[in-house]
Amino acid sequence: MSKYDFDLFTIGAGSGGVASSRRAASYGARVGICEESRIGGTCVIRGCVPKKLLVYGAQFTDAFADAAGYGWHVAPPVHDWASLIAAKNREIDRLNGIYIKLLEDSGVKIFEGRGRLIDAHTIEIAGKRVTAERILIATGGHPTVPAIPGIEHVISSNEALDLLSLPRRVVIVGGGYIAVEFAGIFNGLGSHVTEVFRGDELLTGFDDDVRVALAQEMRDRGIELLARTEIVRIEKVGPGYTLFTDKGAELSADLVMYATGRKPNTKGVGLEEAGVQLNKAGAVAVDEKQRTTVPHIYAIGDVTDRLNLTPVAIAEGRAIAETLFNDNPMTVDHENIATAVFSQPPVATVGLTEGQARKIHGAVDIYRARFRPMKHTLSGRSERTMMKLVVDRESDRVLGCHMVGTDAPEIIQGLAIAVKCGATKRQFDQTIGIHPTAAEEFVTMRDKVPEPKADAAE
Ligand code: NDP
Repeated sequence: MSKYDFDLFTIGAGSGGVASSRRAASYGARVGICEESRIGGTCVIRGCVPKKLLVYGAQFTDAFADAAGYGWHVAPPVHDWASLIAAKNREIDRLNGIYIKLLEDSGVKIFEGRGRLIDAHTIEIAGKRVTAERILIATGGHPTVPAIPGIEHVISSNEALDLLSLPRRVVIVGGGYIAVEFAGIFNGLGSHVTEVFRGDELLTGFDDDVRVALAQEMRDRGIELLARTEIVRIEKVGPGYTLFTDKGAELSADLVMYATGRKPNTKGVGLEEAGVQLNKAGAVAVDEKQRTTVPHIYAIGDVTDRLNLTPVAIAEGRAIAETLFNDNPMTVDHENIATAVFSQPPVATVGLTEGQARKIHGAVDIYRARFRPMKHTLSGRSERTMMKLVVDRESDRVLGCHMVGTDAPEIIQGLAIAVKCGATKRQFDQTIGIHPTAAEEFVTMRDKVPEPKADAAE
């Protein structure tokens, strides 16, 4: 019998922590988990899931408008924000209940409260101490905002999901995943949205064609995009706010939302007491087996600040459980992980951008298609879909697939398997398309984009 209360104790019951704990318990390990907020974590309670429900809600605006081209006569639709938020909350409550039940049914003991390491084998939760042979840090991350005067007036995505009413004018600061997703939500539901970001284009790190195409579509939907702009001060004026930019301009808003990145939750966890070191970026440092600097303490997901995506945290958590409790050593391959941005229209991508591919592989061939989706021939919507393949000229391997357009996340998920398997462009070409779909374009692209002039290539 082990001298510890648990074989594994997990701090943080988000998607990664829950997945790891359940998998470990399924192999007979005695597992405990603690959570200071609601079980389910960022993704289920205040991230991916509620956000996507609001995205669905916002997409109906397009459906009503597009229906006219198909002979529908629809009275001007009226949206009730409070109903949407209430329905979303019911679904989150349901999922929270499912997560709790899944843990209980797996035999994982749940502790309510913040977990803090007292030493390398002891965790304190709400005044109670337990010991564990192995510990998993799965504490996630939190939104961060720059320290400018008036920053206390802004909200983050956490609060944006629970507003009492839909603001008329919203300014969103940031150009990343969360900012563009909420720009689409608020715009779709009828707010006037201005998105302010400091870079030249939205979505730093994505393929440049994706970044340009998305901005075009967002502008066409009436979202104002202010590039190369920073907010230096925010003042409360009556019921609203005035934002002052570094260009000397002023913006008025009823709501200011910041989505300027997230930081790992490392404070107050007792990491130092246990000897767990952080890396230069302030995240928990881990090796390829998710081990921290203390070999029996592991970390997964956003607290390690690598690929901050739910399925990555889940895979990392399960890999630990397989390795430790099923004699099945596993590591997670972080290469070619597909990702999507649920903007309107959505973006999805897997593999290398053109810029990355040119740097790593030198000679690459680019295939690109921009077209009006068939649905919009009758709807009259001017929206265009963009698809792009990045191919290694020497090996013919497809290095990257990128898409902006309806169903992009659903389409790219399948292509991610092909990229993961090392499929070549020839194999893409040999694949017969499904007609008529947008997806078939990925297997029918024939013409290479002309080579950029030497000084234009990244
Ligand atoms: P991101 O890192 O994606 O984007 C942060 C944005 O804020 C960038 O545009 C960045 O600019 C900008 N920024 C950072 N600091 C400042 C500052 N001081 N002043 C002005 N602008 C600033 O962060 P998000 O908050 O959008 O999302 C966090 C993470 O959550 C994502 O990286 C992703 O991993 C995950 N996520 C995934 C989703 C999905 O899979 N669909 C959805 C939502 C989140 P610059 O680019 O110039 O640095």
